[in-house]
Amino acid sequence: MKLRDSNIEKLGQGTCYDALIIGGGINGAVSAAALSGKGVKVALIDQRDFAGFTSQQSSNLAWGGIKYLESHDYRLVRELCLGRNHLIENYPSRVKEIRFYSTIERGFRFPPLLLWLGTWVYWLFGNGFTKTPRWLSRQTINAEEPVIDTSRFHGGFEYSDAYLHDNDSRFVFQFVRSAMDRGCIAANYVESLGARREEGYWITRARDVLTGKTLEIRSTVLINASGPFVN
Ligand SMILES: Cc1cc2nc3c(=O)[nH]c(=O)nc-3n(C[C@H](O)[C@H](O)[C@H](O)COP(=O)(O)OP(=O)(O)OC[C@H]3O[C@@H](n4cnc5c(N)ncnc54)[C@H](O)[C@@H]3O)c2cc1C
Repeated sequence: MKLRDSNIEKLGQGTCYDALIIGGGINGAVSAAALSGKGVKVALIDQRDFAGFTSQQSSNLAWGGIKYLESHDYRLVRELCLGRNHLIENYPSRVKEIRFYSTIERGFRFPPLLLWLGTWVYWLFGNGFTKTPRWLSRQTINAEEPVIDTSRFHGGFEYSDAYLHDNDSRFVFQFVRSAMDRGCIAANYVESLGARREEGYWITRARDVLTGKTLEIRSTVLINASGPFVN
């Protein structure tokens, strides 16, 4: 609490920050870490716990968006696959490859061969970074996962994506922590009440949610990373 109090005091002292970031979900936290890492003077506030909203309700996956192949969003799938690879490569202890075991129901809207081809396209879009897909015959599924009743299935396939080994909010908080290590002044339970322009600067009025005290934070740039609250 001492650090929070002293950070709130610093925020309200009239210092002009290069950037004030509103919202400490994944987008605000990553922005804070990236900017502080480049020597930018950053302030970060959140009206509740860091990563306390959408970013703690994620699937805990870093996925390449296999389902978007169906809607032909190939560019999106390619970008998501490369993003996923980047996360596996850069955060090896936290983002790990995971296999998905999927069955194909008889009468499914796509023939099994097309689905099988789709898993290879997905693999290729990810530059073959993960393990190769595997076709699963009914016999293989029966042998490997006897709990699955295969009577309704053609067979299945196995493919790779990635997941967060610990959990999403910890992952997000790690970025807040690393931003603070690089000089970012961060405080949670500080709500932005709105901002105005004054002589080329942003003046953001904020409220310490725990005490009700208000303060004004000065910055050159304002980054609204308030997710679903964005207005
Ligand atoms: C680990 C992880 C894995 C993910 N994997 C995928 C994936 O595979 N595919 C995919 O599509 N997406 C993925 N996502 C993204 C996810 O689905 C959401 O899109 C994302 O979490 C939204 O983050 P955000 O920072 O924009 O918003 P939020 O997490 O909602 O953060 C906004 C913050 O702003 C604060 N705030 C709001 N108003 C104010 C105010 N007035 N003053 C101060 N603070 C305020 C809130 O308290 C909140 O903490 C993942 C996210 C995470 C964290």
